[in-house]
Amino acid sequence: MRTRPEHAHSAGNRQQRRALGAIARLAAGLAAPWVALVRPTAAGRMVAGAGLPTIIAGLLVMWALLSAEAILLLAWDQTRSLRPSLSWRWTGIVPPEQRSLDSAIIVRPLGEVLLSWNHSWESTPLLLAPLMIGAWAVGCHLAGTLCLVPRTYRGERLGETLRTNLKLPWVCLGLASLVLGVGGSALVIGVDQRDLVQARHWVATGSTWGFGSDWWEYLFAGTLLFGMLSIWLVVAQAERVALGAVPAQPPEPVGPRCVGCGYSLEHVPADGRCPECGESTDKSLSPLTRPGLVWQVRGGAVPFVRTAWSLLWRPSGNYARLLTRDHEERSWIFERVQFALLTVASATAMAGLYLSAAVPDRSVEAWLVIAMLGMGVWFAFCGWAGHRGMGGLGVIVAALRGPTIDGRALAGAVGYESVFLWSFFLFNFAAAFIGIHAGEDIEEYLVASGHARSFVQLLLGSGVFLGNLALSLLWCRRYLIAYRAVRWANF
Ligand SMILES: [Zn+2]
Repeated sequence: MRTRPEHAHSAGNRQQRRALGAIARLAAGLAAPWVALVRPTAAGRMVAGAGLPTIIAGLLVMWALLSAEAILLLAWDQTRSLRPSLSWRWTGIVPPEQRSLDSAIIVRPLGEVLLSWNHSWESTPLLLAPLMIGAWAVGCHLAGTLCLVPRTYRGERLGETLRTNLKLPWVCLGLASLVLGVGGSALVIGVDQRDLVQARHWVATGSTWGFGSDWWEYLFAGTLLFGMLSIWLVVAQAERVALGAVPAQPPEPVGPRCVGCGYSLEHVPADGRCPECGESTDKSLSPLTRPGLVWQVRGGAVPFVRTAWSLLWRPSGNYARLLTRDHEERSWIFERVQFALLTVASATAMAGLYLSAAVPDRSVEAWLVIAMLGMGVWFAFCGWAGHRGMGGLGVIVAALRGPTIDGRALAGAVGYESVFLWSFFLFNFAAAFIGIHAGEDIEEYLVASGHARSFVQLLLGSGVFLGNLALSLLWCRRYLIAYRAVRWANF
């Protein structure tokens, strides 16, 4: 009888502690995006422990904030009688009536996107904006989740990885909303205010060429570069967040397997043969089977270049010799260096393409050079997202094939596949160069040799698309090769 109140007391304590623990987890989950601004890895750990409902609640709050921002911006825009259909002039490719959210995303940070969005959706009711933002945000969130799978997967149940990864893009929203949302909006509103008088003049005179003042152009180019570089900033942050969210306890290593068929060799004598496919066990268990890539064995500039070159041309041979245990960090360093180089090359190529067309005409405009550098950064980002998305799919396919397959090995191989992006870069650069300098000549030549002009234009127009499609299929094949080579790796 005497113990009962005590028992009730301790049960109450436990309940209290549980409630406090839940509140602490909720607070940690909600605070993660802001902690990530200073300590991304710590924020990754925080969010890994938070429940999915917390993240969903946080996303709803963020969505409400973004929607409020959008409505304020749209309302701001609609209070003025201006309809400046400016954006197409800056993109140079898309006429205003065809401008989509995508093209707006390419050229503007968020605040500007919302404005141009409003221009291209004149008839959209103001309150539909939050819904569209929601759909866009969900798409970005899922894409971000997929991109980070190769970075966080350690061979545990794939469902766990995906659950953790669903939370990770949330952590990066703090930086994204701060840099893109607040920074972008401040820029847009600032430009609007300063240009109001000039813009009224422009609308009154019906000029198609907008403000025409130099500072606006430089500001636009700066905004573009700012937007593009901030995407890179968010990507870099996502990487560090993902590192923090990796499970502290790696799963049990997969036991020795036959390299030929994956049969477990745990109870087969080392000098015997695989009972399943007859492959000598010596081959499966000898470290000489996997001596490693040059870059894996010793780092440095020359091994880096040699490995990259060799991987590009001989994926089968190289993935067969890839060391697959505890070598992931090396593969991610390889990927980071590749992307640094690709970004520089892509930005330089874009600016170079513009200069190669503008210099002979003596029509170089400095602001366009800056804008082209920004576009180059954007293309490199697209390459990164495609590469990681493909790698994420590869990891998922590998993990679904069976629990015995060591998914960490494939995740490590993903980093090396970044090298194939050079083929996309070179193909598109060559196509753009030929298009700028010989496009019209080729078209005239083909028309003169008896083809209908509409057919020739279709052929030349779809050539770039078809080329990229062919490269993408080749890339799928390369991922398949990598997957086959490392799925039952013992070293
Ligand atoms: Zn076998």
